Amino acid sequence: MPRRIIWWIKRDFRLADNAALSRAVADGDEVLPVFAFEPMLVNAPDCSDMHVRAWCQALAHLRGRLRTLNADLFVTHRDAVETFAALRANVPFDAIYSHEEVGTGVTFARDRAVAAWCAANGVAYREFPQSSVRRGGVNRDRLQELWADRIAGVEPLPAVTRVPMSAAMRAVCAKTLVPTVAPLRDRQVVTEAAAQHTLADFLRDRGLHYSGGISSPNTAFHHGSRLSVHLAWGTLSTRQAYHATAARLKELDAPDAPSRTLWRRSLTNFLARLHWRDHFIQRLETEPELEARALHPAYRAFPYEDDPKLLAAWAEGRTGFPMVDAVMRCLAVTGFANFRMRAMAVSFACAGLHLDWRTIHNPLAKMFLDFEPGIHFSQLQMQAGVVGLNTIRVYSPAKQLLDQDPAAAFVKRWLPELRPFTPAQIAGHETEPLPGYVPPVVDFRLRAATMKAMLFGVRKIQSAADTAEVYRKHGSRRQPSEGRTVGPRRVGKPARADQPTLF
Ligand SMILES: Cc1cc2nc3c(=O)[nH]c(=O)nc-3n(C[C@H](O)[C@H](O)[C@H](O)COP(=O)(O)OP(=O)(O)OC[C@H]3O[C@@H](n4cnc5c(N)ncnc54)[C@H](O)[C@@H]3O)c2cc1C
Repeated sequence: MPRRIIWWIKRDFRLADNAALSRAVADGDEVLPVFAFEPMLVNAPDCSDMHVRAWCQALAHLRGRLRTLNADLFVTHRDAVETFAALRANVPFDAIYSHEEVGTGVTFARDRAVAAWCAANGVAYREFPQSSVRRGGVNRDRLQELWADRIAGVEPLPAVTRVPMSAAMRAVCAKTLVPTVAPLRDRQVVTEAAAQHTLADFLRDRGLHYSGGISSPNTAFHHGSRLSVHLAWGTLSTRQAYHATAARLKELDAPDAPSRTLWRRSLTNFLARLHWRDHFIQRLETEPELEARALHPAYRAFPYEDDPKLLAAWAEGRTGFPMVDAVMRCLAVTGFANFRMRAMAVSFACAGLHLDWRTIHNPLAKMFLDFEPGIHFSQLQMQAGVVGLNTIRVYSPAKQLLDQDPAAAFVKRWLPELRPFTPAQIAGHETEPLPGYVPPVVDFRLRAATMKAMLFGVRKIQSAADTAEVYRKHGSRRQPSEGRTVGPRRVGKPARADQPTLF
């Protein structure tokens, strides 16, 4: 009897460095790639049309590549267990291989249901890691070692060159359709080819001014790696990004390499952020409850006002704070904002509008083309100031405008109603509202001061034992990555929020 294996495609739309696919090809006589537009995911409150379009693009491209290998993929619109149960009646299979997903409670429950169905039906179920994140908790003192074990010390797998399929498998695939979506001018294309192009382009050209270039929204779109989207959907693996960067750094060992110092600094900083990725995703893996509760117990009952009118104004980019509104409108169109602008948008929502970080989670996740639950929940909590390990910082939108967009180029691009005005007039809108643009919805300074006082009030009385436990479980061991001010080792000067370091 031939051994038939399903490669269950989730957030791993690629043929290269794909352990689940490579193992399926190695272990199976026949391999059937399957993707499900699962209603439970499509209808989840954090999913948007933007995400579904990304699936479609990545899938269409993958299908094209599989067809060049005389293979194909099967697409359904059913939930996973239903998909596999229905499929098995037509195309029997012995095993399901997929990658180890660190997602939300919804995907975790789904994976458990698939595992249970497999166990009940005599189907083997194997999951393969695609990052350094470990199932369950980890000893954070070993994070560097775990990174070496899965990422730095292991070369990426080559792209598969064959996917053996039976005629019956090809026949069921041929009947299924991947919806066609046209690329949008201002939005990144999510395919394995686009990921490779973005990586190469970053390492050869755009990355030179990465350090210093990623703080401003005017330069970050170009000088940032822009790989988050590909890492989130798995059109690229962390290992591929890491090894390509390490190889480039090796080239830069040559003393006559052009702009050697600048390049080395930029690429070293970039590598540190790749570490951060797993550092934050590990938090959610270790403690899935983070989706709904603050990391530090002291902040779990924190009172928020949660005014729905302010939520709508924020989400739609009409708060009357130019930098915030520009970021929100930019996100809605492009699905992207740089770290600093995301942090400011969240800080403004929580500190200025007194919105709960849980309330803003879904609207924001829907607008992020690179939505990655582990990073998202951790960052929301950090910017809301409820982690208990970091400096409590509130970003002033007025300061960010002056520092990061002094000529108001970014603001004018996304807020056409401000185009007639000078940068100074735009900067003065908080005190002298401009005609044609919404007046500020709140007194930011006052409300931010109130929120800070409340957060510091909790900080003062937070239990040292709880803080030590949060640090043990989740804290960064290398300083000063998160501007940690409390915990076993004290740090003098808090780091900039976007300052890189390893773990
Ligand atoms: C409130 C908030 C929510 C965020 N949500 C997400 C999210 O859903 N998905 C996401 O990928 N990033 C998220 N980030 C982190 C960061 O803003 C983006 O990863 C980055 O802006 C993506 O641009 P880039 O690929 O050019 O990044 P680069 O600066 O080129 O960084 C390289 C890669 O490192 C990782 N990375 C960078 N910064 C961080 C960070 N602070 N924490 C963890 N990993 C990082 C990303 O995978 C990124 O692609 C969030 C940040 C904030 C403040």
